[in-house]
Amino acid sequence: MIDRVVAKADLIRSIDSLADKRTVAAPVANGPQFSFRTITAAEEIAEGYLPTALPPNKYLLPPRETLLRFAWHEELTVDPVIEATDTIAFGVRPCDLHALELLDRIFVDDKHDGHYRARRERMLLVGVECLEPCDDHCFCESMGTLRAESGFDVLLTDLEDTYYVRVGSPEGKEFILGIDGVREAAYEDRTLLRKAHERRDAAFTPRLDVTFEQLPGLLAESSDSLLWDVLGEKCLSCGACTNVCPTCYCFDVRDDVNLDMKSGERFRTWDSCQLEEFAMVGTGESFRQPREMRVKHRFNRKGRYIFERYGLHGCVGCGRCARSCIVDIDPIEVFNQLKGQPVER
Ligand code: SF4
Ligand code: SF4
Repeated sequence: MIDRVVAKADLIRSIDSLADKRTVAAPVANGPQFSFRTITAAEEIAEGYLPTALPPNKYLLPPRETLLRFAWHEELTVDPVIEATDTIAFGVRPCDLHALELLDRIFVDDKHDGHYRARRERMLLVGVECLEPCDDHCFCESMGTLRAESGFDVLLTDLEDTYYVRVGSPEGKEFILGIDGVREAAYEDRTLLRKAHERRDAAFTPRLDVTFEQLPGLLAESSDSLLWDVLGEKCLSCGACTNVCPTCYCFDVRDDVNLDMKSGERFRTWDSCQLEEFAMVGTGESFRQPREMRVKHRFNRKGRYIFERYGLHGCVGCGRCARSCIVDIDPIEVFNQLKGQPVER
């Protein structure tokens, strides 16, 4: 599709008008942090933001979601609850676009989850390229997620007064052509884009001593590493790392029965493999009771299992888990330590 260019002022006017009609979610400053929030005007959007505390996934997989309501009177009735609204997710970074591609593969293509799919079909993804690293915790360059070639409806690159616009879908084309003042990209615009990409490529350096394609093999070889014991001693099993992760999607399903004992609802909530109860079975045993087993499981999911199952990144290198971990467990250090000194028992 033909690339376009839009003046920032024109895009801001368009977002102001869209926010009146549909849900627009965008990064908003929240003290020293940033979070994806529903906005009512473009001026709320934070400029030059770091990754948001939570990824935009929460608009597709809410922390708590009613799946169905049931009632037993003359007979059992079960009504699915699917709540979806037209949503524009604005300012999604390339790492999060890669994470959403993974969730689409799992929830739409593999599991056919109607709740996720209904929301995803009504969500327009407006990505914004990263031109400089967020901080010392991000390692998207090493995970191959700094650049997004798909998974967006529209991808913007900041060229100071304008955005260079790549269009990824018919819905994205309709969105961008609906903005007054949009024009086709000219040779000069493409030159500016190339220079921005050259600056970006110079600013990002690989942070891992392995490529993401080598991670599954490294993790398989490191199954007996003593590093898991060290990390198990350190980890507090708080689950913060999985709650903020854009590629974590495990959930628990429960029934809530009303006082009449005849009706109620089934809901799902986020869960975490770092909690001891996660792998607990009905008779009380937990298959991953030792903390080191849980930590090892998380890193294997991030660097190995998901990649082997879906061929996509189980970790997109956003660094959120490291930023949120109160004992400073950082995947960059973990993967590099495994590579540098595969300590064995
Ligand atoms: S955030 Fe840190 S301490 Fe908490 S479960 Fe994750 S690795 Fe362990
Ligand atoms: S494991 Fe950490 S760095 Fe990787 S995607 Fe999850 S939050 Fe981001």
